[in-house]
Amino acid sequence: MLLVEDDVAIAESLREGLSAVGHTVQHVSTGKAAIDAMNYELMILDIGLPDIDGLDVCRSVRKKSNVPIIMLTARNEEIDRVLGLESGADDYLAKPFSLRELTARIRAVSRRSVGQPESDTVVVGGLVVDPVARRALLRNTEIPLTAKEFDLLELLAREPGRVHRRQEIMESVWDSNWFGSTKTLDVHIATIRKKLGDPRWIEAVRGIGFRFTEPR
Ligand code: CA
Repeated sequence: MLLVEDDVAIAESLREGLSAVGHTVQHVSTGKAAIDAMNYELMILDIGLPDIDGLDVCRSVRKKSNVPIIMLTARNEEIDRVLGLESGADDYLAKPFSLRELTARIRAVSRRSVGQPESDTVVVGGLVVDPVARRALLRNTEIPLTAKEFDLLELLAREPGRVHRRQEIMESVWDSNWFGSTKTLDVHIATIRKKLGDPRWIEAVRGIGFRFTEPR
């Protein structure tokens, strides 16, 4: 995996820790080097880089690759930017974090990007969600989705009409041990609604969760 981090001490401790649990870590310390890097299966990307902002790095990488990207942020305001600017990151971690937290996120995003067990294409009205190709088409037009957005859409669309509880969604799409806020979920739901062009596809069920329904 590619570690993009300009802080030498953090980079070194992450590299050691991740190597110890079996990951091969390639380290670069600038945004430019990150954008130019090739042949890695996952990117861990610090948002605060000396040359190019991490979010811009993320967007550049997204233009050419679907590789899972985990953003590292130093401050709360940066988390808001990660969530708000739709940079295409799959997940984020706020510093300080434990190696255990990071490896859990790595496992989660890797599992998703490797693909799910065989499952059939989901068709709801004009929407087609293909879990093998990991593509979603609305009336034959592809909807560009991040890995997280795709997982969320697939989960909801697979059982139209059923209310999915927030906790259940968080556990399924984000992490198996999610105890944090579900603000991320709301942000992703809002983005998917926007991309589908009609908010009625995903109905909020107050105090419980969300239900997927074809708008009529
Ligand atoms: Ca930094």
